[in-house]
Amino acid sequence: MNLLSPFNFHEHNGPVFITGPCSAETREQVLETAKALKEQNTCSYFRAGIWKPRTRPNSFEGVGVEALKWLQEVKQTYGLPVSCEVAMPSHVESCLEHGIDLLWIGARTTASPFAMQEIANALKGENVPVLVKNPINAELSLWLGGIERLEKAGINQLGAIHRGFSGIEHGIYRNLPMWHVPMELKRLHPELPVICDPSHITGQRDLIKKVSQYAMDLNFDGLMIETHPTPDKALSDSSQQVTPTHLKEIITQLIIKHESSHNKSYENQLEFLRAKIDRIDDELIELLKSRTEVSKQIGELKKEENVTIFQQSRMDELMKLRIERAKSQGVSEELIEKIFTHIHSDSVNIQAKIFDQEN
Ligand code: PEP
Ligand code: MN
Repeated sequence: MNLLSPFNFHEHNGPVFITGPCSAETREQVLETAKALKEQNTCSYFRAGIWKPRTRPNSFEGVGVEALKWLQEVKQTYGLPVSCEVAMPSHVESCLEHGIDLLWIGARTTASPFAMQEIANALKGENVPVLVKNPINAELSLWLGGIERLEKAGINQLGAIHRGFSGIEHGIYRNLPMWHVPMELKRLHPELPVICDPSHITGQRDLIKKVSQYAMDLNFDGLMIETHPTPDKALSDSSQQVTPTHLKEIITQLIIKHESSHNKSYENQLEFLRAKIDRIDDELIELLKSRTEVSKQIGELKKEENVTIFQQSRMDELMKLRIERAKSQGVSEELIEKIFTHIHSDSVNIQAKIFDQEN
């Protein structure tokens, strides 16, 4: 898959800000928000949901096609490019008719390959940028699958939006970020712009600043932040929307990091520390090799003695000791537990192979 495209967010020379209300509610609300965002220079693309995929019926489900005219007005009056969520072929058609500049696919839609395929079919031959939100469940292949369906339909201005994952233990967040999932997407497709949506991740306006900064530290290409003139009165997602003034504060306080630096002293120090890490990693691999050898010897011994490979009591004891040791050394207990789970399971596999061998 080659997603390199003219829709290159990097051209913006800094992060892209997709800002505007969760939902278009009234013409006045839409225009008032756009005016403030334009004046404060906090909007690269104006966003507003027109058809709202609500989890339960009887919630506000969006104004529908009528609101597309308000987005056209935003574009004409303030010169802001406009964006909208599409969930069905008819949405795609209406958005294209109204000259919407950018489309995004919501999390519930990405989760359904049938819906994604229908949207991809409706977009065939069109030249519009499309951003795909992660599916509600933390399945990278489903996210990739959605992007690939659009790419196969000839859409070459593609990007992704990370909005966190629902339905699991959240802690303080509305949707658990599980940052390793978008990071893996970035690793697989370094050319694909990935935007972070701290509004839907946090569900609370007070946490948006922190998550936005974290996304910048991880080199995300932009932010999608829901903005409303009177957030507490919003008809959807009221607790996570911020006022344009609050948004300005969040954006101006962001510290934008660079992927690299030309400062010689920084480069020298980094090179030195990375060489150190490389040496330590080599030693770790040597140690794992020695451990494997010992594990094989134990396998031979157990085979001769007709003893089972796996002994729960030994596994429990080993884990307990390693975690205690980690604690006393100030090493993350979680990390040690994960590493030794893998090491132990590899040991079991090695010994199973020895048991399998003919004498
Ligand atoms: C939205 O952006 O308003 C939206 C519905 O988001 P999500 O698909 O991430 O729930
Ligand atoms: Mn929303």
